Amino acid sequence: MTYDVVVIGGGNAAFCAALAARERKERVLVLERAPEDESGGNSRFTAGLMRVAYAGVDDLKKVMPDLSAEEIARTDFGTYTEDQFLDDMARVTEYRCDPDLTEILVKRSLDTVAWMRGKGVRFTAAWGRQAFNIGGRFKFWGGLTVEAVGGGPGLVESLTNSAKKHGIDVWYRARVTGLLMDDDGVKGVRVRREGKTVEVMAKSVVLAAGGFQANPEMRARYLGPGWELAKGRGTRFNTGDVIRMALDAGAAPAGNWSGCHAVAWERNAPEFGDLAVGDQFQKHSYPWGVYVNATGRRFVDEGADFRNYPYAKYGGVILRQPGQFAWQIFDAKVKAQLRDEYKIRQVTKRTANTLEELVKQLDDVDAEAALAELKAYNAAVRTDIAFNPNVKDGRGTQGLAIPKSNWANTLDTPPYEAYAVTCGITFTFGGLRINTDAQVMSTDGEPIPGLFAAGELVGGIFYFNYPGGTGLTNGAVFGRIAGSNAAAGSDH
Ligand SMILES: Cc1cc2nc3c(=O)[nH]c(=O)nc-3n(C[C@H](O)[C@H](O)[C@H](O)COP(=O)(O)OP(=O)(O)OC[C@H]3O[C@@H](n4cnc5c(N)ncnc54)[C@H](O)[C@@H]3O)c2cc1C
Repeated sequence: MTYDVVVIGGGNAAFCAALAARERKERVLVLERAPEDESGGNSRFTAGLMRVAYAGVDDLKKVMPDLSAEEIARTDFGTYTEDQFLDDMARVTEYRCDPDLTEILVKRSLDTVAWMRGKGVRFTAAWGRQAFNIGGRFKFWGGLTVEAVGGGPGLVESLTNSAKKHGIDVWYRARVTGLLMDDDGVKGVRVRREGKTVEVMAKSVVLAAGGFQANPEMRARYLGPGWELAKGRGTRFNTGDVIRMALDAGAAPAGNWSGCHAVAWERNAPEFGDLAVGDQFQKHSYPWGVYVNATGRRFVDEGADFRNYPYAKYGGVILRQPGQFAWQIFDAKVKAQLRDEYKIRQVTKRTANTLEELVKQLDDVDAEAALAELKAYNAAVRTDIAFNPNVKDGRGTQGLAIPKSNWANTLDTPPYEAYAVTCGITFTFGGLRINTDAQVMSTDGEPIPGLFAAGELVGGIFYFNYPGGTGLTNGAVFGRIAGSNAAAGSDH
């Protein structure tokens, strides 16, 4: 059993690597630990949103050639330049992101998504989630414009079909348990396939097996105490084994090992993601309301920035609250603005006609303190400034210890609604060090011959926080580079 390139993982990064490898070499194998019906990793749980830099609608047509004249006429796509993407990455990672890797991520974003389109993945504009309808015209507000048709499930299905069409072998229930190494680098992998251990020899191996977010032991160890209590938003199979294998083989760790992407997530959601619900357990409309915790107090500036920027660190903020939960509270004025995910059946929701009644229904919350907090908040809102969801409107609060900086509406119009949330962890930021050719670097600072990596298990790109839609782009850009270089390297 010998392949030119073996790719470990069955998500977006893995399939992009496999498809790129197949452009140069015949024998490419994808090893996916999950059974087929749970395959696709975190990528399958996504909305399929992909952040790309674009100078205007002509660029977007490279990835969405089906955009009609009528759709273009009714949409203000604006631009999202490479400089803006670079600035966003630098700002949200507090200037820690690896500059060389980040530059590649940004500069190859559009071209890579266009390449995926060439491989059979179809994309559309994310009108539903990333644009506001203003007077009949859609305006994109955060530079995040492109999504895969069919979301994450559609993305994984198209990539899988494309791989099979290109003659790439895909094994399910094939868990890699070891890397075969000698002094000259990687020689293959040990796999437990359907319960039987086999060795597969390969000239190059691409690691694309995700982070360690589904492993409570590693979460507590690296993210810190309490993180074992978070809910997993995605696949239960990303338990960090391949990261550990690579470290044991001499790979260098990189990046923000104590950091992760984590969001507000339904308090009573299951331990890991549920493919039937996808990302709908998330509760992202907090900028239009307020949070209170068990002590009845607000604890975060809900209007600090557009949702796409701070949302990925607010899961951790909720985890640090007593009991690891909080309630999001809205009034009827913003009900129409609540995202679809508030309308699903699996929500912990309370409704009341007065704030007095509402606070009494908030499980595990000091009702008296909560009522006082909501009244103080109402009194502090700058009602002289108009509410405008499309810009940071400056309609904030005055004089509160924890301000709300934008979109502060008074809670005064019944019925009031409250939703219970906890911390949902998406993926971990720490991982393996790679160079700009996606080669895994050793602790001695040299590339490990034959070993490449891409996606969630790479460290050094995201720190503290993350601009929405960058995970898939990251996996695609570096997956493509890894696969292509793995195949080129396998000539030797
Ligand atoms: C609910 C949710 C919504 C999201 N929404 C978005 C979004 O809209 N846009 C965006 O850009 N990002 C989003 N993300 C983040 C995104 O999912 C990840 O950044 C991206 O999918 C990571 O891709 P990957 O290929 O590196 O990992 P994955 O897609 O997780 O793939 C890892 C694969 O490795 C396999 N594996 C693990 N261990 C082994 C082993 N030992 N042997 C063999 N196989 C193994 C797993 O089974 C899995 O198939 C979201 C995440 C979640 C959970």
